[in-house]
Amino acid sequence: MNDFDPTPLIHHPYRAPQGFEAPQVGVYKASTVMFENVAALRTRDWRNKAGYTYGLHGTPTTFTLEERIATLEGGSECLLVPSGLAAIAVVNLALLGQGDEVLLPDNVYGPSRELARTDLARYGITHRFYDPQDAASLAAMIGSHTKLVWLEAAGSVTMEFPDLRALVQAARARGVTTALDNTWGAGIAFRPFDLGIDVVMQALTKFPSGGGDVLMGSVTTRDAALHERLKLAHMHLGYGVAANDAELVLRSLPSLALRYHAHDAAARELATWLATRPEISRVLHPALDSCPGHAHWKAECTAAAGLFAVMFDARFASAQVDTFVDALNLFKIGYSWAGPVSLAVPYDLQAMRGDKAYPGTLVRFAIGLESVAALKADLTQALKVLG
Ligand SMILES: *Cc1c(COP(=O)(O)O)cnc(C)c1O
Repeated sequence: MNDFDPTPLIHHPYRAPQGFEAPQVGVYKASTVMFENVAALRTRDWRNKAGYTYGLHGTPTTFTLEERIATLEGGSECLLVPSGLAAIAVVNLALLGQGDEVLLPDNVYGPSRELARTDLARYGITHRFYDPQDAASLAAMIGSHTKLVWLEAAGSVTMEFPDLRALVQAARARGVTTALDNTWGAGIAFRPFDLGIDVVMQALTKFPSGGGDVLMGSVTTRDAALHERLKLAHMHLGYGVAANDAELVLRSLPSLALRYHAHDAAARELATWLATRPEISRVLHPALDSCPGHAHWKAECTAAAGLFAVMFDARFASAQVDTFVDALNLFKIGYSWAGPVSLAVPYDLQAMRGDKAYPGTLVRFAIGLESVAALKADLTQALKVLG
């Protein structure tokens, strides 16, 4: 044993001066938070942000990100969770119990459908799917056990934009809470709380991160009582986010709008051009009138995510479409979106959701930040494999 005493290193007397100001808040890392005395330990309440109690309940870094996401969404309070899917899960677990029913749009984000089908069903929570393009059918489906209606705009993969006002109206008329997956809109394209939506979640993994290198989710509300219910479930489930990850999102947030509009402009240009190609039978981009729900997008939105799908002409078998995707160079094959790298994923919708409305193979493109000319050249060379 050497006789060096580490105690002064652990209990070092130096305190940096207060009042440090920089564009970004620091990366505060903690499980343990230290109280000045026992009275502080006994009286401090983790439920409010007046002080700190334990790393899981927040640090200056996570509190700051929560406040900024609440502002982005137009809400008043926000919770952070380790992924977008965790945000969906915490909303379901906070607001639903045995015997309750949740209604999901039939084009809902796939893992959300799986959560309902498996774990929620196991807890005695039932679900049904509604057609998001038919608000009257949603209204007719709402029953005495319906406690939550999920909304998504635009729909995952097939990109239909729903009449959010009519869907929210149908739920509110029956006193049913609505929750929106706002990953596509990202707080930029439209204002969900102004439509009367109760809970807005977002996969911060996508646009707010923007780097393809962080997983995080947020759950935002405008209602203190609703926030309290969500916060209790969040606490009981032990959800927290890492300070380094929170810092990455804080660093990306100031450029969110610039990036969103850049992805949007490039995607619209490419979608419009692809619509003229003979290999493509249909382009699904909410800002193009070939997309179901285009009128709703136009009524509600000032922008669109850099995301669209194309349907290949029925003469191409799905294996041929796969060779097209494999022939892409700049476009990488991968899930997620809103990062710098453009991505392509083929989907067989008939296999995925038995969808008669979408025969043939669909490829979803997430447009990154490369130049439009370079992406167009890549698509052009890859389309040649189709002959
Ligand atoms: C990516 C995504 C999610 C889930 O986010 P993760 O952070 O990957 O769990 C949820 N909804 C939509 C619409 C998404 O695109």
